[in-house]
Amino acid sequence: MPNYICTTCGVQYPQRQEAPVDCLICNEERQYVNPLGQSWTTLEAMQQGNSFKNEILQEEENLYSITTNPEFAIGQTAFLIQNQGFNMLWDCITYLDEKTIEKIDNLGGIQAIALSHPHYYSTQVEWAETFNAPIYIHEDDKEWIVRQSGKIKFWSGESLELTNGITLYRLGGHFKGGAVLHWKNGDNNKGILFTGDIMQVAADRQWVSFMYSYPNFIPLPASKVREMADKVKDLSFNRIYNAFNRVVMENAEQAVQKSANRYIKAIEGTLFNT
Ligand SMILES: [Zn+2]
Ligand SMILES: [Zn+2]
Repeated sequence: MPNYICTTCGVQYPQRQEAPVDCLICNEERQYVNPLGQSWTTLEAMQQGNSFKNEILQEEENLYSITTNPEFAIGQTAFLIQNQGFNMLWDCITYLDEKTIEKIDNLGGIQAIALSHPHYYSTQVEWAETFNAPIYIHEDDKEWIVRQSGKIKFWSGESLELTNGITLYRLGGHFKGGAVLHWKNGDNNKGILFTGDIMQVAADRQWVSFMYSYPNFIPLPASKVREMADKVKDLSFNRIYNAFNRVVMENAEQAVQKSANRYIKAIEGTLFNT
C-alpha cells in the first residue's frame, strides 16, 4: 500500500489503499489547498519519474544545504550540520533517492534529525529509517504528525541540548512548538541560528520577520514577537539561515532585535502614517 504525499506541502501520510481526501496540514489557515485542487504523489512515483534530483552543496565549513530540483511542494532546504563527529539534519525535504543516501553517507550519515515545525515534516520517517536516526519534535506540535513512527522523540520545555554545541529552542509563533536550532560552533565559533519559518529572512538579508501564516499573510501579535526575540537575546550567533537558504551573513543577533522592534511598532501603528 502506498504512502501518499501531498503535492502542495510535501508531507507523507501512513500507508493506505487510497489517497486521503484532504491534507491535514494544507486544510488549515497557515497553509493552503492548491486552488487547482488537492493532489497526491508517492516517493516511488517521484523516483521513477527521474525528473527530481537533490542538490547537496557545501555552504561553509561543516555545513551542507540539501534542496530538490526542480522545486517540489513548499520548496524548502534541509541542512546537514557536521558537529564534532555528530551529524545533524535540520528540517527535512520530501525527495530522497540512492544518490542522496550515498552522498550523505560519505559525509558521515545522519545521527539526529530535528524539525522546526510541521510544514517540513515531509518524508521525515523515510529519512529517519534510512539513516537510523531519531527525529526530535516539540511535543506542542504532536497533533500535526500524520505519519507516526517510533523514531519520533518528543521534547518539551523551552530548550533541548542535542549534543555539545547544538541546542533547540522553542520560540513558538508560527506554530506553538516552533523551534530554532542554535549551532554554537558554526561560522568559526561565532554561532549560527537556523530558523526554518519561525523567523524569516527578509529580501535584503539584513532583517527578519515573524508570521503566523506566510502564504495567507497573517501576522503575529506584538507580545508574541517580543517574547520570541527575548528568547534568543542571550544566545550568541552571527548568522541566520532560514528554510530557503536565505542568510543574514553577519550581526544576526542585532538583526533579530531591530526587526522585532520594527515589527512591533508597525503592528501597534506607531511606525508610519497610513
Ligand atoms: Zn498538504
Ligand atoms: Zn511554515
